[in-house]
Amino acid sequence: MDLYEYQGKQYFARFGIPTSPGAVADTVDEAVTAAQDIGYPVVVKAQVKVGGRGKAGGIKLAADADEVRTHAAAILGMDLKGHTVRRVWIERSSDIAHEYYASFTLDRSAKLHLCMVSAKGGVDIEEVADTDPGAIARRHIDPVDGMSLEVASELVTEAGLHDEARTQAAELLVKLYTCYVEGDCDLAEINPLILTTDGRVHALDAKVTLDDNAAFRHPEWEEYAGTDTLDPREQLAKQKGLQYVGLDGFVGIIANGAGLAMSTCDVVEQVGGKPANFLDIGGGANAAQMANAMEVITSDDKVRSIFINIFGGITRGEEVANGVVEALGRVHIDVPIVIRLDGTNADEGRRILAEQVSDRVVSVPTMIEAARRATELAQGANR
Ligand code: GDP
Ligand code: MG
Repeated sequence: MDLYEYQGKQYFARFGIPTSPGAVADTVDEAVTAAQDIGYPVVVKAQVKVGGRGKAGGIKLAADADEVRTHAAAILGMDLKGHTVRRVWIERSSDIAHEYYASFTLDRSAKLHLCMVSAKGGVDIEEVADTDPGAIARRHIDPVDGMSLEVASELVTEAGLHDEARTQAAELLVKLYTCYVEGDCDLAEINPLILTTDGRVHALDAKVTLDDNAAFRHPEWEEYAGTDTLDPREQLAKQKGLQYVGLDGFVGIIANGAGLAMSTCDVVEQVGGKPANFLDIGGGANAAQMANAMEVITSDDKVRSIFINIFGGITRGEEVANGVVEALGRVHIDVPIVIRLDGTNADEGRRILAEQVSDRVVSVPTMIEAARRATELAQGANR
């Protein structure tokens, strides 16, 4: 899960990473009140989960209440790269001497953490990486060793940070590493990390991606879920413990396992269809999960046929078939359903389908044929 900038800064603060004092506001009046408390000048910052807000007009300096009013009014409701701004973050404006970059992320191919530091912050780091790769100091960090102050000092020196920023920046890097590891982040990025004109180093922006797999040990993350704008179908799927991915075609796909779900998408494309979404019911799915999956998938009105592709291993054919029967009794489904059932207890599953729902479900033995059939039925079906 990605955090908003203000949430990322609050997360940083828990690990002692310095940021500017600030507050969120959902209305123009709240923004003015917040600015009054913080003290002028302030910055009004659009809270959307996209980068480049500055260039897109989502970040404005304000010297007094009138300016806060003007900027907050312009920014709230603004569309930033397809994201509507519903909230602004008001913070004390910083006097910037230099803008740097610092981040930790996982380098999957190296199986190590990766720390990157640059004296060329503020701008698009991807652009720096393309045009001036030497300007980014990189170091793999072995999780067993952790991030020492020594390594951090070497990195800030190598990156060419100004002398007066180095000690504070190195200390901050160690804290950012702790935040990244103990805070279970996939990404902890500060761009820009600044040196102020009065010689302080702090985070002016925050980009934090939390590792959803670690949510079980962070009950405090619950508060972020409420602020996350999930697609309603994704929300429904999540509540039911299913993995849902929305796409923009017309064939709804249910499969057991993400790998099979993705290859099902490919096969549907191959026969001229377009997947509307895919739902992974996971390994060992039972009848109730199957029924839940069908409920979620039909809540998407782009779906004009459903293709259920199950290769039973731990998942058993008769459970899947019972789930389909249960779902048809429980949810109103008015699109054609094609199922390819193979693997463990597939014969038993097919028998159940044939006996109980043969009028509603087309059972097809192979994946490619089933994909073709689901595509044809979707194209023929009128909703
Ligand atoms: P982004 O554009 O979405 O990455 O948003 P940032 O928070 O990184 O801000 C973009 C730019 O706005 C920064 O690189 C700064 O140049 C500028 N900016 C942000 N906050 C301040 C501030 O407090 N004072 C000044 N002078 N500039 C700021
Ligand atoms: Mg930024």
